[in-house]
This record gives sequence, structure tokens and C-alpha cells, in this order.
Amino acid sequence: MTTGTGDGLIWLDTPAFPEAARTALADTQLRGNLRKATGTIRDKRLAVTGELDDWEQLREAGAALKRRTLRHLDRYLVELEESVTRAGGTVHWAADADEANRIVTGLVQAAGADEVVKVKSMATQEIGLNEALAEAGIAAYETDLAELIVQLGRDRPSHILVPAIHRNRGEIQGIFRREMAAWGRPAPEGLTDEPRALAEAARLHLREKFLRARVAVSGANFAIAETGTVGVVESEGNGRMCLTLPQTLITVMGIEKVLPAWSDLEVFLQLLPRSSTGERMNPYTSTWTGRTPGDGPQDFHLVLLDNGRTATLADTVGRQALACIRCSACLNVCPVYERTGGHAYGSVYPGPIGAVLTPQLAGVDKAPSLPFASTLCGACYDACPVKINIPEVLAHLRAEVVEAKRRGRRTPTPEALVMKAAAAALANPRRLAAAQRTARLGSHLLARKGRIGRLPGPLRAWSDTRDSPQPPAETFRAWWQRTHPGETRSGESR
Ligand code: SF4
Repeated sequence: MTTGTGDGLIWLDTPAFPEAARTALADTQLRGNLRKATGTIRDKRLAVTGELDDWEQLREAGAALKRRTLRHLDRYLVELEESVTRAGGTVHWAADADEANRIVTGLVQAAGADEVVKVKSMATQEIGLNEALAEAGIAAYETDLAELIVQLGRDRPSHILVPAIHRNRGEIQGIFRREMAAWGRPAPEGLTDEPRALAEAARLHLREKFLRARVAVSGANFAIAETGTVGVVESEGNGRMCLTLPQTLITVMGIEKVLPAWSDLEVFLQLLPRSSTGERMNPYTSTWTGRTPGDGPQDFHLVLLDNGRTATLADTVGRQALACIRCSACLNVCPVYERTGGHAYGSVYPGPIGAVLTPQLAGVDKAPSLPFASTLCGACYDACPVKINIPEVLAHLRAEVVEAKRRGRRTPTPEALVMKAAAAALANPRRLAAAQRTARLGSHLLARKGRIGRLPGPLRAWSDTRDSPQPPAETFRAWWQRTHPGETRSGESR
């Protein structure tokens, strides 16, 4: 199997994060929607994780299981293929988005269908499957409520778990009224913005699609190597309809989702619902093993997707991002995400995990601004149920971005020159003292009311987004020498 890069997951028509974030920050409606929604999910998560005395041990167990699986990923994937095949399913290997889309399109055509119903899936968004199917004349209907809102609104998802988190009830009511008729059953007359009425409108709209569809496409939350069992967890029951009613089921799954043994689910089925929706268990947990004659889909295909994952696995620091179980807890606690929303990240994977996953799957050159879309406050690390050290990966990727920039230039950047000068000054006490004297002198000229607002020349870009306090009149070293005459740095008398 060759390894591809995840070109498909980036929205190449969107600006880089700093520019996109500026636009999003000006949208007060968006910020209000996000503040309310993330705050609610955050509180629910804290309440249900706080109930368990062994929550930290569960996190540790989840992290250890993922580490072990990634270490032996090749072995578990081959075992999974054997188990699925034994159970009557067919396994396909896709190096990149194009190959995965070709495989799925071919399977739908072979089934004689021109439409599919879809279970919510990040992997199929990552490869742009709906667009690829549309090019082949196949209609893909999203059946998850939030995905339906995004699809009807010709929008893009902005959250891993709640793709329409940027929309409020009034906006959803408008989308349903305007757009449902073009996709099938129209919205009921006099539809209000009551959640119950909106859910009923979606239920009626989707039901005819569930009953008609001959092919379903899903993602997977996990697949068990030892048994070949594939699983999806969800809250609405739409997934269960897709996974049981059609004759053909096609599942697209990132290769990192494999788990060694059935018993491993004990850990993840506790970690995932509590971290994602703030529930003790998922309302619907569907599992299937190959095919069962006379019961459910009679043709099952599992597409194992690489799309940059093998390359990510080769990075000893960055590979921990592959442990992600897509719970979205890191998004809900991130101060940057809460203010900018998901679209600013320009990727199907937004928020802190998107800031480390997107550049790795697609290549840092494709998303160089994302590793900087963070304050490095560490809230994501604290919340992550599988203990992915996102700040560590962010810092690691920042270094890669800087290094890539340096390699691509004949002359060093002003930033690189400043860093070089700083390194030289900090390595030598005399040079440091001279630099401090110079900085003090300069700060007298530049400071206003104790703060330095804007630096001159090439340093302006740095100071445009930061205010620095004016350095004190006396440095620590000068203060020490004045107040501790005759003492060495270790406190001993000379
Ligand atoms: S990085 Fe951790 S917290 Fe964020 S979505 Fe993945 S598993 Fe959840």
C-alpha cells in the first residue's frame, strides 16, 4: 500500500487562519451562538466526568491502548482485514482521497444505485466524498440532523461533533423552510423554531430516504481487529436506520481507528460519550461483523483510508494526534475556537485537534498558519480523554513551519535574525548586559505610558499584535550586584 497526503481535507478557497479569524471575530451572532453551545457542552462534560472516581485511570488506559495500537498498527490492520473477510465483508485499501472516492463510487455504481444515505462521518468529509459522488451523478443524503442542516444550507461543518454549532434555531428554521423542498419532502406548513418541531421536520424529510435507499455510506468510530466488528456511536438513531435498512453498506474508516480486541471497547465506550456529548453512554451504539444472511445489509465493504496517516505515524512527536477519538472536548474548551468558530481553520478538522491533524495529514506547507492558531494554554490537553499533548505537537509543528520557511529562502527572515541575535546575547553574560543596556535606551524612545506599542522596521509585524511593557530601569543583574555586593550567583561570599 502506498501512502498519500490528505489534500482533500483542506478548503483551499478559504484564507489562512489569521485573516479568516479576523472576519469571524467581527461576527457577533456567531460568537454568541458558539459561546452558548460550547459552554453548555462543557458544563455537561465536567458534570459526568466528575462522577467517576477512576476517570483519570480511564484516560490513562485509553492513552495506553492507543499508543500500543499505533505501535503495531500494521499487524492489527492485517488482522482486521482477515477478520472482516472471514465474516463475509470485503476490505479495500485507499492510499488517498482520490482512491477512496474511486472505490466508493465504483461500489455504488456496481450496486445499481444513484443515491446513498449517509451516517455522519469525518472520514468521508475529509476525502470530499459527497462532491465526488455528485460528479458521478450520485446523490448523497446526510441523515445526521446537524449534517442535514449544513447540507441544506450549502454550508460547511464548523465542529467535529455538532457541525452546525454556528447556527441558531431561527437560522435552522429558515434553512428548512427554504431548502427542504429542493431535496425531497418540504418543511411542514407553519414550521416554528421550536427544537421539537425542527426535529420532526427533519424526521419526516429523512424517513422517505431511509426507506428508499439501497446503499448506505458510514464512517466508523472503531473496528476490532480480533473479530472484524465495526462500530458507530450516535445520538439520533439515523445511523441505525442507515446501517440496517439498505442492502449495501460501505464504511470508510481512517486506519488509526482499529482497536486490537473487543474488550478494549470497555474503555472507549466510557471515554467517548462523556467527553463528547456529556452523556454517560451513547443512545445508539451499533456494531456489525461482516454480514449476516437475511439480516441487515447483505453486502458490506470496509474502505481503509490512509490519506496522510502513515506519514503522520512516522513522526514520533506528531503521531499522538492519531490517537484522537473525535470527541471534540478540545474544541469546547479552547478559547481560540470559542471566539473564531470552526470555519476559520479552513479544514474539516477545526479547533486544537485540527490545528495539529490538518498540517500533518495534508503537509505543513498546506496549512502553515494552523499550528499558530493557539495560545498554548493547555486546556485541550487537560480535557482530552486519551491525553494527546496537543500543545507539545503544536510547538513541534511550529518549529517545522519555521524550518521549512528558512529552507525556502536565500536570505534569513527578520525573525530568524532577531532569534539568532537573542541566542548570541543569552549565551554570553557580557553580551547580555550590553544588549540590556541597548534595549533600555531604545525603550525610552519607543515607550508611551510604560508600554511599547509599535516597533520599527521589520519588527513591526511582531508588535502589531502585541503590547510589551517597558523594561524596568534596573535589570535583575544590576539589582543583584547592588543589593548583594561581594556575593556570587550561588549565594556564597567571594
Ligand atoms: S484531541 Fe482529544 S479532546 Fe480533541 S477531539 Fe481528539 S480525543 Fe477529543
